[in-house]
Amino acid sequence: MANNVWIFAETRGKALHPVAVELLTPARTLADRRGGTVTALACGVENETVGQDLIVHGADRVFIFPDLSFSRLPPESIARTLALFIRAEDPETVLFGATSLARDLAPRLATILNTGVMADCLTLDLTAENQALVGTKPVPGGNLMATILCPRHRPQVATLLPGMYEPRPPDTGRSGEVLLKDTPVGTRDAKVRMVGEEGKKKSASALEDAQIVVAGGMGMETRQNFRLVEELAMVLGGTVGATRPVVEEGWVSPDHMIGQSGKIIHPRLYIAVGIYGSIYHTIGIQRAQTVVAINTDPYAPIFCFAQYAIVGDAKKILPALIDRFRKR
Ligand SMILES: Cc1cc2nc3c(=O)[nH]c(=O)nc-3n(C[C@H](O)[C@H](O)[C@H](O)COP(=O)(O)OP(=O)(O)OC[C@H]3O[C@@H](n4cnc5c(N)ncnc54)[C@H](O)[C@@H]3O)c2cc1C
Repeated sequence: MANNVWIFAETRGKALHPVAVELLTPARTLADRRGGTVTALACGVENETVGQDLIVHGADRVFIFPDLSFSRLPPESIARTLALFIRAEDPETVLFGATSLARDLAPRLATILNTGVMADCLTLDLTAENQALVGTKPVPGGNLMATILCPRHRPQVATLLPGMYEPRPPDTGRSGEVLLKDTPVGTRDAKVRMVGEEGKKKSASALEDAQIVVAGGMGMETRQNFRLVEELAMVLGGTVGATRPVVEEGWVSPDHMIGQSGKIIHPRLYIAVGIYGSIYHTIGIQRAQTVVAINTDPYAPIFCFAQYAIVGDAKKILPALIDRFRKR
C-alpha cells in the first residue's frame, strides 16, 4: 500500500508557520519511500499563495479550509471537521509541528480517529521494511533516546519539534492541486466557546533567529547572578537563553527557554553557562555552530556538545569575559 502522508500546515495570520514547510521534508521522504503522495491541510486562510508555497516545498495537494479559523472556532470543532476528511481518504500518516496549537489539536484528532500520537518527535523515519513510522524522542529522566511506533492503529499521528528539519529548497517547477474546501462547522456540542482573540506581544528575544545566544542554567544559583548571563549577552549583541528550571524559578520568561519544551535554536555561537547538558536541553542546540560551555564540573554532559570547555566558577569567569569583550 502507498504511504500517503498528510501534514497540518499551521498558519500565522495569512502566512505559513515555518514548521509547516519543515514538515514537508520528512513527509516527502516518507511518502516517496513507498510511492505515496503528500497532502497539506491549511486552516483559516483563503489565499492560494499558501497553497503554492506548500507545493513548491514538496506537497502534491493542498486542502485550504477558509472557514476553519482557530480564532473563531474551538480546536475540538476543527478536529472533528478535519477528521471527516482524514477518514474519507485514510492516509497512513498525519504529521503536525509540535507547536502549542497543534499539541492541542493532534491528540483531539487522534482520539476521534481512534489512534495514538507519537508526540514531540525529533526525527521521523520508516522501519527497515518501510512498513511503519518510527519517531525518536528523549526518555523521561535519562540521557537516552527512545524510538516509538504506532504498530496497530492508523493513521499514524506524530508531532515533530519545530526546527529539526531544514525546509526543502523551493522548486518552482513542481505542480500540484490547491483545493478550497467549504466546511460549515457545527459548534453546538463544543465544550469550549471562543470569546475573542488577544495578540501576544512578540517576544523580544527571538531566540530562533539569534546569531549569538548566551544561556544560563541553575549553576548561576540566584536571579541576581543570572544578570551576569544577561550582561554577557548584551555586550556580545546576543540573546539570552535559559534552561527550564531557570524559567520555572521565574528568573526569565518562558520565551527564553531552550530545548524540547522551549525553542530549537541555530546560532553561530552558543555559550552555555552553569548548564548541566540534559538531553531535553541539548535537543535545542544541536544545530548551533560553535558551542562554548562554562561549568564547575569537568564531567558535565554539556561538554560533550562543546568545542570550547571552560571548567570553573561562572560567577568569576563571566565578569572577566564581560570586561574583556567590553574593552574590545
Ligand atoms: C519532559 C521534560 C521536558 C523538559 N524540557 C526541558 C527543556 O526544554 N529545556 C531544558 O533546559 N530542560 C528541560 N527539562 C529539564 C531537564 O531535564 C533538566 O532538568 C534541566 O535542563 C537542567 O537544568 P540546569 O542545567 O539549569 O540545572 P542543573 O541540572 O541543576 O545543572 C546545573 C549545572 O551548573 C553547574 N554549576 C553549578 N555551579 C556552578 C558555577 N558556579 N559555575 C558554573 N557551573 C556551575 C553544575 O555542575 C551543573 O552541571 C525537561 C524535563 C522533562 C522531564
